[in-house]
Amino acid sequence: MNASAQRFLLGLDLQELTRIVESAGEPAYRARQLFQALYAERVSCAEDISTLSRRFRAILKGEHIEVGLPEIQNKFVSVDGTVRYLIRLGDSELVETVWMPDGDDGEMGDGSEAGDGNRIPVRNCKRATICLSSQVGCAVNCQFCLTALLGVKRNLSAGEIVGQVIAVLREQGARPPVDRVNLVFMGMGEPFLNYENFIKAVRLLVDGVGIPESRMTVSTAGIVPRIYDLGGESVRPKLAISLNAPTDELRTQIMPINMKWIIETLVIAAREFPLRRREKLTFEYVLLKDFNDQPAQGYQLAELVRGLRAKVNLIALNPGPGIEFETPIPQRILEFQQLLMNAGVPAYIRRPRGRDIYAACGQLKRTVELAS
Ligand code: SAH
Repeated sequence: MNASAQRFLLGLDLQELTRIVESAGEPAYRARQLFQALYAERVSCAEDISTLSRRFRAILKGEHIEVGLPEIQNKFVSVDGTVRYLIRLGDSELVETVWMPDGDDGEMGDGSEAGDGNRIPVRNCKRATICLSSQVGCAVNCQFCLTALLGVKRNLSAGEIVGQVIAVLREQGARPPVDRVNLVFMGMGEPFLNYENFIKAVRLLVDGVGIPESRMTVSTAGIVPRIYDLGGESVRPKLAISLNAPTDELRTQIMPINMKWIIETLVIAAREFPLRRREKLTFEYVLLKDFNDQPAQGYQLAELVRGLRAKVNLIALNPGPGIEFETPIPQRILEFQQLLMNAGVPAYIRRPRGRDIYAACGQLKRTVELAS
């Protein structure tokens, strides 16, 4: 067996584990045991897998085959209970993963908490949302996002994506149960520029870890061909599209990706996306003061979304150093929401989580110094 190519178990599916098991001369059912231990029991060390024979464990050790769980290097706890984890990967690169206890996905209906949500930390939380990174940095270069300032270093492997969930669940303990955990692929990176690893991770998270696909949402800046690919997957998260502006003129200024796939192309892909029963698309719209928060833009947005089975998530800009834009006042945000609702478009204001620790949308940037 080739030890260097197979060093880490995390990220391997049942078929790949079976190959390892067979090349070690072990019976095939061991692959299931490994799969179970890695993803459902969330072990950190292969030697702890007591269901495996001693012989097999010794072989794994001898071949330097390890679980490969990423390490939590640091964590920051917000007044609202949100925890931002700085996670160190095998090659010492860092990504950020955010834990939001008792979260829906940070939405609320009436906008009454549009300011900084000062939620009390939840001890016995019934639900939680984990926000995952898909790349080290990001290449998309949205002008309002701090991660963009890093550029992109590399893609995360499927094991590193799943590893974030497992590391955080291990740290948080058994509450809430995994089938009450929501996952959002909204951390660092553009998941659709790392599509294969992202979708493999999704399958492992569903089949292995036990998180329902209906509790997962992937957010894209609008990589149109991958929207079609996602629509063809038998197991997939819900889809959120970061629209952020209602015209090409405005959108291109803040999202250069719009030069490649213009709004019309994006909306056609959204229209053709095969939704499941009761499923809705989400359009995210980051509100930038005096740029895209005017009534005229609200009407244009309503026009775009009309006829789609979709809702709009409004996100007040989370500010940060090096970002040119400002956050609109809460009144303006509420008016924008009201305008959309009056036009028949369901609109929600995303409650900012963990702003004080730089954990909110668009603020993930390995900000160890900033938060400590
Ligand atoms: N690359 C993906 C996922 C990461 S960004 C995407 O673009 O969708 C997740 C969400 O945060 C996106 O909707 C994005 O528009 C939003 N966002 C980015 N920077 C932000 C900021 N500074 N304040 C508020 N929301 C931001």
